[in-house]
Parts: sequence; structure tokens; C-alpha cells
Amino acid sequence: MLDFDQAQTLLANAAGPLQRTEHVDLTQASGRVLAADLDATVDIPPADNSAMDGYALRLADWSLDARLPIQQRCYAGDVPEPLKPGHAIRLFTGSVIPEGADVVVMQEDATEADNLVQISREPKPGQHIRRRGEDTRAGSPLLPAGTLLHAAHVALLASQGLASIPVFAQLRVGILTTGDELVQPGQPRATEQIYNSNGPMLAAMVRGMSALPVHVLHARDTETDLLAAFKTLLADCDLVLSVGGVSVGERDLVKPALAALGGELSLWKVRMKPGKPVALAQIDGKPVVSLPGNPVSAYAVFATLVTPLMRRMQGRAEIFPPVSQLRLRTAQPRQDAREEFLRVQCRVADDGGSELTPYGHQGSGVISSLPWSTGLARLPADVLVHDQDQVAYYDLRHWLA
Ligand code: AMP
Ligand code: MG
Repeated sequence: MLDFDQAQTLLANAAGPLQRTEHVDLTQASGRVLAADLDATVDIPPADNSAMDGYALRLADWSLDARLPIQQRCYAGDVPEPLKPGHAIRLFTGSVIPEGADVVVMQEDATEADNLVQISREPKPGQHIRRRGEDTRAGSPLLPAGTLLHAAHVALLASQGLASIPVFAQLRVGILTTGDELVQPGQPRATEQIYNSNGPMLAAMVRGMSALPVHVLHARDTETDLLAAFKTLLADCDLVLSVGGVSVGERDLVKPALAALGGELSLWKVRMKPGKPVALAQIDGKPVVSLPGNPVSAYAVFATLVTPLMRRMQGRAEIFPPVSQLRLRTAQPRQDAREEFLRVQCRVADDGGSELTPYGHQGSGVISSLPWSTGLARLPADVLVHDQDQVAYYDLRHWLA
């Protein structure tokens, strides 16, 4: 048996970043991973500009009773004239600051009549001017390789005028579900059969990680079926995930199938609940991870053990999302010989802090606990955990992203 932390490290190192990169249009960049360090090439803002709707003038020309002639009305996008002494130029937010002006006065402090402007409050030197390069300087680092791009990064890249950027290729994931008892949703089902939840669930989780679920195959519990499916997935994907059939039952044939394909099994049982049977094999230089069949176990193992490996393969800089320490609410003290990952909801308590409430039924077959939960609370093995004790919280918004 392996400890959870050991298993997580082993899995996270089971493959390196993809070598394939490509260029994508900025409109397609969200969810992709930057493949090169990018430096700024443009000062942002590119010229001094106004932070307010108002007037540009020389501070030296201001006095309470001065009425300055308005030389020009300069809208955002217009080219300003050099400011004549004793004059003001009407400006708007984003207008370029005229040469010679050293302050912007907001229109709320100004009275305009007969093309003259009078300013009721003494301006401070340099006020309301956004300086060239105060946001980003040309030549300074913009974003490092490994950044998972979201709207905020897209804004920054667009501000530099970039229309296309280098990203890592999307990780291609093959999914294999196993079991004679399973039917696909939408198909007729006999009493002794159950619907296949793991296939659609894993495909959705893979997509949630901005990777591509290239195939979702199903194999019956025969070595021939498993071998054929694994071969298809290995030919087409960077990472293969199988689910079920990896325990010690007579029909648990995943392990022998992987061995028949020349796979070296590098881990077997992880001391975690739910979970336990998890296997990693390397076949043709590609990692194959076999997850336990219970949907809840597959979900927890995917979130905590598979996603770090996926992030590494995607070239992402952050492999392990943050884990916080939060209070657990539990009616009875809890203890288990394995580390336990409880499905919990993180809620705001009366004192304004966050606390974790476990789902009532923690059985590893209880699928209804999954949409209810916001994350997983990790309880150490062989320790009695009491109400209000601090435990590690794996927020699934981070761990499944
Ligand atoms: P196994 O590891 O194959 O023995 O599966 C453990 C449990 O998970 C059994 O109750 C299976 O019926 C169930 N199971 C396995 N695969 C799936 C699946 N794709 N969807 C729903 N339940 C599954
Ligand atoms: Mg099975």
C-alpha cells in the first residue's frame, strides 16, 4: 500500500510536458497553456492619457478666477495640438495629453461658458494623467510559459496587439470504462444492469481540465475486449484512463491486460478512502492510469491524483492547486485506518469564517453526493478528528480545473 502523498507525487511525475506546440488565435486562447515566455513589446498606455473627462492645462496658468480659452476639443483617438500658454484643451477619458499640459482637471470642478473654462479647485501637479508605460513597460516580462490562459490574460495579450500566441497542444485523453453490468445512457436497461456514469463523468472532467476526451470506449470484462480497447486508445492519445476492473475480483482483468501490452505496473493500492485500487502503467512511453470503478472513487481519485499529472503534461506551471485548512463540522468524532476524503460542502458559518459540512452518506457508490459537494476534506489516517478541528480542504473548483 502506498500513502496518498507518495502516490500523488509518483503520478504527477509519470510524464513530462507535451512536446507539441501550436499557435492559436487569441479568440481561442482561453483554457490553453502558454508555451513560451512572452515579453511586452508595447508600453501600456502607449502615451500619457487622461483618466477623466475634463480639461488639460498648465498648473502655472491656474488661479481661482482665471477663465482659460478652450483651444481644442480633443476626443479619445484624436491627436491633440500642443497646448498654447494660458489655454485649456477639452479632454475625455483616454484622450492623449497635449504637449505642454501638466494637469487634468475633472469636469465636475470646471465651469464652461462662451468657450472659456474656470476651475474651482486648485489642481495637484500631474493629477488625472495616466503615464505612458505605468501599466506595462515594453521589454518587461509579460507572462511566463506554463500560464493557463483565462479572460484576464487574454486582455493583457490583446493590449499588446497580439493576435496569435504559442500554446501547448491540447492533451489528448482516452477513456476506457469496463464491466459486463454496464449499459450506455439512452439504451434499454435490464434490472441487473446499471447505466455507465463513469464514461460521461470522466469525459466531462477531462473537458473541464481543458483537455480533449478523444475516445470514450467501453470494454466487457474479457481480456480480448480490454486489449483491443487499450490498443486503440494508446494509438490515439497522450494519456489513457481506464476505470473499473482493477480490483482483486475474478473478472478484474485490467491488470493482466496492461501486463500483456508490456506495461510495467508502478503502483497498485493507495491508502485512501474512497479509492484504494489505483494503478499506473507505462506503455509505449505513455501513462495509463487505472481508476477504481465506483463513480465516487473514480471522481475523487481523478480530482486528487490524476489532475496533477494532466497539468504537468499540459505544460502548466501550477501542478498542485492550493489546499486550505478549514474547520470540519462532524456530529461524531471520525477515525479511519486509511486517509479519508470526505465529500463536503464549504459554507459560511455564523462567525463569518468557512466551515466544512460532510454529506450524510459517504458510501463510495453514492453518486448523489457528488453534485452536492464543493470539495473534499482530507482526514489523516489513524487520528481521531473532532468537531471544529482544522482539516485540509481540496476545493474542486481548483482541483478540477
Ligand atoms: P469494479 O472496480 O469494476 O469492480 O467496479 C466497482 C463498482 O463500480 C461496481 O459496483 C461497478 O458496477 C461500479 N462501476 C464500475 N464502472 C462503472 C461505470 N462506468 N459506471 C457506473 N458504475 C460503475
Ligand atoms: Mg467491473
